[in-house]
Amino acid sequence: MKSKYKGIRMAVIINDTCINCAACIDECPVEAIVDEDDNPTGEEYHYVYPDKCVECVDHFDSPACAEACPTEGCITWDMPFTEDYKDHYNGENYIDGQAYVMDDADAVMPTRADISTEDRQARKPVVED
Ligand code: SF4
Ligand code: SF4
Repeated sequence: MKSKYKGIRMAVIINDTCINCAACIDECPVEAIVDEDDNPTGEEYHYVYPDKCVECVDHFDSPACAEACPTEGCITWDMPFTEDYKDHYNGENYIDGQAYVMDDADAVMPTRADISTEDRQARKPVVED
């Protein structure tokens, strides 16, 4: 297992390079990922509910979805799902100017300090070769 990011806490997003292989879904310990048929935004690829993703903290040493994903750069950092970034998640900042879909927009998830805001804004890949 790649273990570059041990102990991290972050929000992740799946982008439009997803090939719908489903390798990530069963790896997620909290069922935060849905497939292309259930992507609530209408896009035809997998989706991470930002209000459900627990960042694999207390489950794995690194984000299991990104470790399992065969598509380089498909799963990237996103902003923390915290009070400070509600505007991000409530805005049209998902993919192609669309809005995120959440079940609980008021949820607050943990974040981590060792991933910079710049890297999050740039949506850098969680796992980089
Ligand atoms: S980082 Fe972990 S909790 Fe979040 S979507 Fe990926 S596997 Fe699920
Ligand atoms: S493992 Fe990667 S390519 Fe496969 S469904 Fe998940 S996000 Fe998409």
